[in-house]
Amino acid sequence: MITRYLTQNPCYQQGRKIAVKGLMLHSVGVPQPDPLVFIRIWDSPTYDRACVHGFIGRDECYVTLPVFERHGAAFRGWHGGGSSNNGYIGVEMCEPSTIRYTGGASFEVKDRAAAVAFVEKTTRRAVELFADLCRFHDLDPLADGVILSHAEGHQRGIASNHGDPDHLWRGLGMDYDMDRFRADVAAAMKGEEMVDIGALIAEMTDEQAYALVQKAQRYSESLPEPPWSQKEGHWKRATEAGIVDGKSPERPMKRDEVIAVLGRKELL
Ligand SMILES: [Zn+2]
Repeated sequence: MITRYLTQNPCYQQGRKIAVKGLMLHSVGVPQPDPLVFIRIWDSPTYDRACVHGFIGRDECYVTLPVFERHGAAFRGWHGGGSSNNGYIGVEMCEPSTIRYTGGASFEVKDRAAAVAFVEKTTRRAVELFADLCRFHDLDPLADGVILSHAEGHQRGIASNHGDPDHLWRGLGMDYDMDRFRADVAAAMKGEEMVDIGALIAEMTDEQAYALVQKAQRYSESLPEPPWSQKEGHWKRATEAGIVDGKSPERPMKRDEVIAVLGRKELL
């Protein structure tokens, strides 16, 4: 993630702030895969038509308005039109060079495999960025109206009449939509928790780690299956057993994490 604020854009210059209600996903609507092409054009005092919080390319993600500086707040962007700008962070995905627009949201595909591969990458990067944003701003990606596409924003009467980015997945015949996107964001947030637990254990005092391991051992002995399974029932029982403290981690310890902690001889 690269920070590259559009400081010359009049929207940035205005410096208005919003309370973050949700996140809106866009795609640029032109076959331009390079975020820097947009950033160079938009980072200008005369570019007063739009300003977004981020641009996503195949290999990189640029944050272009401050969104990770204060919990629950962000710079106001000009991305959705209507009232969406007053509560939503808006991020643009770039689009593959192998499509050609024929009018509105319709396009021809010159190289479908290449176009799909590109869009899969940008969509995945968007999932990861949205997961970070949900975590930072304490948003539930599956709650109604929290994550919307520009097209969905229009359907709800809070954004201008655009079809992005739904039109891109649909036009490429991809088995993907905003429901899948929201589910992927939720899954990515859980995935990050799996990474975080390692860091959490590393930061614990020996006493805290030892207490956690003892709990995990007592818990694992009481189960027919290992507690590190993420099956729903196990998750719930891990919470009841106190392995999960209600803040973080949000899942039981994994076997290798238990072993890693147990392996610290000074604890035993
Ligand atoms: Zn849009």
